[in-house]
Amino acid sequence: MCGIIGIISTKEVSSRIINSLKKLEYRGYDSAGIATLVDGNINEVKCEGRVDVLEKDLAKLNLKGDLGIGHVRWATHGKPSKVNAHPHSSEKVSVVHNGIIENSTILKKFLEKKGYVFKSQTDTEVIAHLVTDYLKKNSLRDTIIKVLNKLHGSFALGIIFKDLNDLMVGARRGSPLAVGYGPNENYLGSDSYALKSMTNKISYLDDGEFCILKKDQIEFFQSNGKQINKEVMNLSKEEINYDKGDYKYFMEKEIEEQPTTINDCINEYVDKFNNQINIYNFPWKTNSLKSIVLIGCGTAYHSCLVAKYWLEQYTNMDVSIDIASEFRYRKVRFKRDCLYVFVSQSGETADTFAALQLCKKNKMKTCAIVNVVESSIARDADLVLPIYCGQEIGVASTKAFLGQMLVLYILSIKISFDQKSISKKIYQSKIKNLLLLSSSAKKP
Ligand code: GLU
Repeated sequence: MCGIIGIISTKEVSSRIINSLKKLEYRGYDSAGIATLVDGNINEVKCEGRVDVLEKDLAKLNLKGDLGIGHVRWATHGKPSKVNAHPHSSEKVSVVHNGIIENSTILKKFLEKKGYVFKSQTDTEVIAHLVTDYLKKNSLRDTIIKVLNKLHGSFALGIIFKDLNDLMVGARRGSPLAVGYGPNENYLGSDSYALKSMTNKISYLDDGEFCILKKDQIEFFQSNGKQINKEVMNLSKEEINYDKGDYKYFMEKEIEEQPTTINDCINEYVDKFNNQINIYNFPWKTNSLKSIVLIGCGTAYHSCLVAKYWLEQYTNMDVSIDIASEFRYRKVRFKRDCLYVFVSQSGETADTFAALQLCKKNKMKTCAIVNVVESSIARDADLVLPIYCGQEIGVASTKAFLGQMLVLYILSIKISFDQKSISKKIYQSKIKNLLLLSSSAKKP
């Protein structure tokens, strides 16, 4: 994971790029960088370490430019270092990238044969050279279509061009990318949180889409170049106002928010008057479900490990769990009577999203347990069960982990009662315990 920001404006952008990068540090912090376009030249500043190091370096340089991109990195290819920090440039462009280019070795050989010289060990640098190469013979739009076609793997991209001072390009496959609409300026960002100090109007790119941002206009395209319209969303006040308050760290704040997570989640799913669990829109006959597979990465995978015990104990189903990055590359035997559950806080975890898409392609039953309801995973799954815990910024998950476990527990109880594998008495005692948990969980 890493964080991307891009701003095209009529005012200087570097200090706002730095502010947004600080908000994206939860996505990666081994190195950072920025590039702006000034009088037909792309100026880059990069450093190993965190954004405040970059900020200090920038203070000495007074980096001008009203169009620029920034990046916080969490290395996948090449060690964390100044030379491997993004943006990566070629003769004509500068690129920031979140994700992994799986065929970068092959592309690198192809480009080296053509005379391109690589400075870094990253997979990302191939994108910069590929764009430069295609631009020599193609229009901008055709270049982007052709380059995206060549890339295997996952990416969110921000690209600026030496010879085009009035636009930047964003593209996504697998990794998240939002665009923001401002007054005579527009933005790219890995999430809405990075953009919220500048705008409350955003759109999300869907998989395979790309966009061309100008100061006063954003055009969206599908991977084949067909122009499309995008829904503009208004961020809620709660999303816009998220900050540390009196706490020193987000993690500390989020730990103390756990009683609220418990209350909000139980309020949403438990009907205390009728003593029942409310998952109204459950689209399948529970008796037809013979097995369940829980899929996630990192923290989400650990919540699945816990939920396996509940599902095995209370339901009649065969239960298995899988790390999304393994599931997506294995030869999975898909089963019609199986429910595939995808757990992800952001709803954008690239491997989990790819595993969901694999299940969708094979016409399987899919359920998403996510925090961000407008995320890619939520939009693609048949059933969405939000964890209702509000934005989580801390890198080490706390309240989201709790929310995931709660929803998985609630789902276990619902399925087991519907399948009649637990009695009404046990079902209602479990609901009573959930309500008790809700009333006894208090701020420390
Ligand atoms: N693969 C790129 C790199 O290693 C981007 C890393 C990321 O998305 O975290 O630089």
